Amino acid sequence: MDPPRVPRCRSVSNHAALIHHHHAPARVPPRALVISIAALVIPVVTVYELPDWTSNGGGMLIWLTALIPAFLLAYYRGLQGVAVALAGGMAVITATQVSVVAFELADPNWTMLLAIVAAYLAVSVGIAVLAEVLRAERHAAEELALIDRLTGLPNRRHVEDALEREFAAAERGRGLTVVMFDLDHFKRVNDEQGHASGDMTLQLFARVLTANTRKENISGRFGGEEFVSVLRDTDTESAVLFAHRVLDQLRESHLRWGVQTASAGVVHYEKGMGSYEVLLGEADRALYQAKNGGRDMVCVAVPYKPVAAVATEGAPPVAVEPRREAVVMPPVAARIWIVDDDATLRSLLKEMLLEDGHVLWDTGDATEAIAHFAATPEAERPDVILADVMMPVMTGMRMIDQIAAISPSLKVIYMSGYVQSVIEWPGPPGVVVSFLGKPIALETLLTEVQRVLHTEPPRLPAVPG
Ligand code: GH3
Ligand code: MG
Ligand code: MG
Repeated sequence: MDPPRVPRCRSVSNHAALIHHHHAPARVPPRALVISIAALVIPVVTVYELPDWTSNGGGMLIWLTALIPAFLLAYYRGLQGVAVALAGGMAVITATQVSVVAFELADPNWTMLLAIVAAYLAVSVGIAVLAEVLRAERHAAEELALIDRLTGLPNRRHVEDALEREFAAAERGRGLTVVMFDLDHFKRVNDEQGHASGDMTLQLFARVLTANTRKENISGRFGGEEFVSVLRDTDTESAVLFAHRVLDQLRESHLRWGVQTASAGVVHYEKGMGSYEVLLGEADRALYQAKNGGRDMVCVAVPYKPVAAVATEGAPPVAVEPRREAVVMPPVAARIWIVDDDATLRSLLKEMLLEDGHVLWDTGDATEAIAHFAATPEAERPDVILADVMMPVMTGMRMIDQIAAISPSLKVIYMSGYVQSVIEWPGPPGVVVSFLGKPIALETLLTEVQRVLHTEPPRLPAVPG
């Protein structure tokens, strides 16, 4: 069987629309406009005030101030700006000289005037060429900053930009589904076939992904061998089909050393997520389930059901406690773990938490946190875990899932940097979950820690039968 034909990268059209908004023409500040107008008015006034001087030799050089607008507008508006300045300057020079002749103010030095106009034109064209070259270079540099060099796909920053915008649109009612892909056993390819083969595999996957991504959507390289697709106006079912197509085409591509597979996690936007980081966290959880389930498969994130709703099915909805109510009890000191890849934020949090006399442990590595939790005797486990949502290797959601598998009675405060609305997202059953938006203020942090410490863990639903 022939390998499936995968069209070559059409990555440029894939993200051209997204790059575009970075290039809105710069606004010309009023200061620059005032200077430009003054630069044209000065020679005109001088011509009328000192007609003899300005029509003779040196005095005519005053017209060179008419070049100033060309420089200024070239900076702010590029080629178009120079054209406007050139037209304006020429009009002013011509009108002034015509009126000088008409009113017989002076006898113009025609040779000198011609030389000035020629110099004016030449310099303006020079500025225009320079402006255009610089503009093109800046455009290329900005585009490069958003593209992954190895695969030509949008890079992580680009994907996160798109996600942030699409998340905001989803909050206003547009559908949004995110798929996270991770190549299976990719370490083996590197170890057994060499790094170059690994790179080729990444490029192959990028081509498969791009070929299956619609123009209005975006698929990018999120990390080493992790890819993310942002699918707007897409329901879960279509996203799952998309993910399967990508996985199938990858599996059926012929590689010298055998078959490469990938796993995918799919998540649909839901109200209450509040931040695109929570959405990605859920995609990451689903991806982890796909890995656990044997790889080369697609898993869909099923939102956690609030335990109360599960336990009291049929009964009227349970009144929800107001969040962030004032804590009247004296602060209790607790064991708190901080897991965040940002070392500066970790030390800041530690400094803040010491105010209430908490006992602290921290790490920047989610894998280390899971291992440390497993190795810690039950009596010494943390009362609260402060977890960053977005971390390299795995998200806070996946980490907490794995820790909850060791011990389900957990209290977690997630920290997210991109909160767009109040986050009302339940954690795994039995886990007390709260969210803080970065930057985190001292008062908010201490109050929230106390509130979570005083919150009873939700009861796990009784196993039926
Ligand atoms: P799993 O199925 O659980 O995902 O296993 P895995 O081996 O793919 O997982 P892991 O995340 O441990 O390994 C990822 C590897 O990807 C480790 C790293 O060497 C490799 N990698 C990351 N970026 C690049 C890259 O740009 N080029 C190459 N060749 N390899 C990379
Ligand atoms: Mg990985
Ligand atoms: Mg992998």
